[in-house]
Amino acid sequence: MRDFIRRMEEKAIAGERLTYEEGCRLISASGPDILDLIASANRVRHHYWGDQVNLCSIVNAKSGNCSENCNFCSQSAYHDTGVPTYPLMDAPGLLKAAQEAGSNGAGAFGIVVAWWGLREGRELEAILQRIRELVAAGHTRTDASLGIIADRKIAFKLREAGLAYYNHNLETAQSHFPKICTTHTYDDRVRTIQYCKEAGIRICSGGIFGMGEVLEQRVELAVALQELDVDVVPLNFLHAIKGTPFEEIPPLRPMEILKIIAVYRLMLPSKDIMTAGGREVHLRDLQSWMFAAGASHTLIGNYLTTSGRKPEDDLKMIEDLNLRAVAYCGGTVQEAVEER
Ligand code: SF4
Repeated sequence: MRDFIRRMEEKAIAGERLTYEEGCRLISASGPDILDLIASANRVRHHYWGDQVNLCSIVNAKSGNCSENCNFCSQSAYHDTGVPTYPLMDAPGLLKAAQEAGSNGAGAFGIVVAWWGLREGRELEAILQRIRELVAAGHTRTDASLGIIADRKIAFKLREAGLAYYNHNLETAQSHFPKICTTHTYDDRVRTIQYCKEAGIRICSGGIFGMGEVLEQRVELAVALQELDVDVVPLNFLHAIKGTPFEEIPPLRPMEILKIIAVYRLMLPSKDIMTAGGREVHLRDLQSWMFAAGASHTLIGNYLTTSGRKPEDDLKMIEDLNLRAVAYCGGTVQEAVEER
């Protein structure tokens, strides 16, 4: 296995795409081979990203009461989870949240909403206006996660408003998607990503692991993201919420999570591999290993309905690893924080 891992590392550094079969062999690594896998992923990360770490933050800009039935999600109207419900936040509220994200060190700020998606109409106009104001304020790069896009014209309007990146996770492998959601399809998600790419918007798309998928399906998702040529790949690890159909699913073990990060680094070697939801609750003391395992990006601050840890703790961890958190305005976050 060690020689195989080394060959895959060389292939990734040479920019060659690993196959589904090669990914399945890597993800079957166990015991001490996982540490070899992590070491290889670390070298691949360093080859493409050096000591750079990207940081972003999100805001729950419209909470709860979502028409979709994603089994992992606390904001679905199908699940009794007690999350707060509120309509789309106003521009001053979003500008304040973006400013706070920027001062915490986030290079990008993502507007996230709990609804099916975007169609022509009042809601779209409201979102476009808020994006224009956030871009004009320039606290951070402005990103968004606004659900399924009904028509490619809408993607071009988002681009014109100044949107840089669109987050739309495939969530899981196509073969596992019907077990996750039945109110919309995997193809709806792929089409939304394609519309955004046509409009020149960069793509942030990944998934949630630990939702009952098998190892091969974790690789199947990586291959789909290779084919869509996405830019940022968020890796979430199911944080089972009471009241959702997935509340009883046991959590992933830390070494399994680190293995997933490492395999994604090798299968998407030059991409911005990001750790997101579940990294605090499941990695615990092993959080700093996420960068050694190949992550080049992490989400700081709170999640949509659950808390993250203090951003300054993450900045300290990155500094302690001799890595550099890059600020939106260039330079490092440390310098940006010290200048303030
Ligand atoms: S579409 Fe988004 S907000 Fe709605 S249930 Fe699914 S994951 Fe949750």
